Amino acid sequence: MSADPESSFQNSYNFSILFYESPQPMWIVDSVKLNFLEVNNAAITIYGYSKEEFLNMTIRDILVGGDHKDLNSMDLPGNATYNIQSFHKYKNGNRRHVEVTMFPFIFNGSRTRLSYIRDITAKEKRQSLLQYLNLAGEELALALNTDTALQKISQLIVPTFANWFTINILRGDDVDLLFVQNPDPEYVSWAIDFRQRNPITIEYKGVIGHILRTGESSLIPVVTAEMIEQSIEDPEHRKKILNLNLRSSIVVPMKIKSKIIGTINFISTVEGREYDEIDLNFAKDMATRIALALENARLYEEAQDALAQAEEADAETQATNEEITAINEELSATNDQLAAAYQRIQESEETFRAMAEDTNVLIAVSDESSNGVYFNRAWQELTGKSVAELQDFGWAELLHPEDKDSWIAKYLAAFEKQESFNGEFRILGKKGDYRWVLARVPARFRSDGTFAGYISSCIDITDMKNDEARKNDFIGMVSHELKTPLTSVMAMLQVTGKRLTAGQDPLLPGLIDKSLTQVRKMTSMITGFLNLSRLESGKMDIIKSRFNMKDLIHEVIAETEMMVSSHKIRLESCDEVEILADRNKIETVISNLLSNAVKYSSPGTEISLNCKAGADSVKISVRDEGEGIDEQDKSRLFERYYRAETNKAPYKSGFGIGLYLSAEIIQRHDGNIWVESEVGKGSTFYFSLPVMTKS
Ligand code: ADP
Repeated sequence: MSADPESSFQNSYNFSILFYESPQPMWIVDSVKLNFLEVNNAAITIYGYSKEEFLNMTIRDILVGGDHKDLNSMDLPGNATYNIQSFHKYKNGNRRHVEVTMFPFIFNGSRTRLSYIRDITAKEKRQSLLQYLNLAGEELALALNTDTALQKISQLIVPTFANWFTINILRGDDVDLLFVQNPDPEYVSWAIDFRQRNPITIEYKGVIGHILRTGESSLIPVVTAEMIEQSIEDPEHRKKILNLNLRSSIVVPMKIKSKIIGTINFISTVEGREYDEIDLNFAKDMATRIALALENARLYEEAQDALAQAEEADAETQATNEEITAINEELSATNDQLAAAYQRIQESEETFRAMAEDTNVLIAVSDESSNGVYFNRAWQELTGKSVAELQDFGWAELLHPEDKDSWIAKYLAAFEKQESFNGEFRILGKKGDYRWVLARVPARFRSDGTFAGYISSCIDITDMKNDEARKNDFIGMVSHELKTPLTSVMAMLQVTGKRLTAGQDPLLPGLIDKSLTQVRKMTSMITGFLNLSRLESGKMDIIKSRFNMKDLIHEVIAETEMMVSSHKIRLESCDEVEILADRNKIETVISNLLSNAVKYSSPGTEISLNCKAGADSVKISVRDEGEGIDEQDKSRLFERYYRAETNKAPYKSGFGIGLYLSAEIIQRHDGNIWVESEVGKGSTFYFSLPVMTKS
């Protein structure tokens, strides 16, 4: 008999053992109705349905998702074996990815399918997670900054792997909440705010702290309310978390080269998606990739920052460079200006030298320490000395012995005061003769106002001096010659006057008196000239004698009164004082002052004299009630030939030599002469002389 495969299968003890005891679920379904005809123990255990339940269900009842239209053609022809993949639902709701191998099978005489089921959920999950991980890796590698990286991470994780997640980053010992992804924006802001209010460190007692310290992971496939109650102490935090309906959670460390840099917490809130070991492994790998992405982003940002800083530094350098360039330009402009100024100085120096060298004026420059530093060609020609010989005080050695001390004293005194000065002196010429020079010595000041010394210009006035001397000699000679006959005339007039007797022409005595007055005037004028010529030629000798000042004043008044009747001359007060002086010359001085007072005041006015003796000096004053003297004239009255503008009226004859002579005489007595005057009110002339102690 030929073997009946169907009956032999059905009745086979071996088959029964294989079918019922197989660790893999197996069942037999009707090829057309698709209802379960028999299930094995593994199917009952794994799927969770009882045998009765199975036998009341069709394949359709356990299928979930997927496209099962081919189920209608399960009544497959022939003896072919088929493999299909589908998703089965366990009684507890778990969804499994399965691979079903179907064989054609005769069961209790019917055509059925014997199915052998392999759970490929894990395998598939691993595979898909692997793919996902690879994709995520690629995606994350593209994120160049933390924000984009986080955005990509979110897109990758939610909702495929988790419904939300949190990333914590370790900064030093502080744990910063880097990112919270949650569908409820209110929760996100609460979480951030809560962490700010309750910052945590690596020492944090909760799961994050543990993971950061140990590098271990945490997988809680099913999160229960009790778990939350127990693990979260803070009531506010606990309440929030309870509200989130957590279902499953994974917390894994993020590591870079085995260094823990943070944690990532994946949360599932969907029923049926509880995390398992596969998910945990995936989460670990994912965390590593996220850590890398964040690290990359950080490095990239650092590099960007460094670049920006470099650029900024570059810009700064650029700016500094520009500044330096500007300063340089300014400097070079200043330099140019300096060079130009120097050039100008050089040019003006050259101009000065050219001028100074080309002139016959003696030009010399001294520095602020009174040393002569420059002497022009004229100086060298006049003295026959080189600049080196004239420099410093070389020039002073050439001064006339009579002028040397006084001129050097004047020169040094001027340096003290830093004032300009003028004067005359004689200097030894190259031919061995002394030359008279007139010097104008203005002070030099630098542009900043500091004293720089002097620049002197002198002209050789020797010829002028000689001419003048000749003129003086002539005046002296003429005066002398005139004075002799005049003295005779005066003597004869006096004799004639005395010899007049009564009965003669009554006009005669008056005429003789008037003649005498005129002769005296002439005599005094001629005496003036004579004195002047003597003075100028250096022949005015001072012959001192001791005399009583009061007596002299009385004499002069008496003599003046002989000639003048128009004014009242009064000696107001006079101390008894004896002085040692040239009596004739002092007489000339008093006489000059008195005759000027008469000349420059109206007839009938009073002229008063005073003589006051002090400890060291005696002061004589002559006051008139005349027209007075202008301020501008006061200082110049004592100059030779100077006459005030207002007093040049022809009726006031004069030559402007009286005060000059008087001043010279007083000076030679080491005294002083000065005037106080107010226009319209009169003038007072004073002179003072030292009182010689009787010895
Ligand atoms: P003069 O021969 O012109 O009087 P002085 O040397 O004596 O020469 O005087 C110089 C000038 O001073 C005079 O011309 C006059 O202008 C003025 N002066 C001198 N004494 C008086 C005075 N008492 N009152 C007003 N002016 C005076």
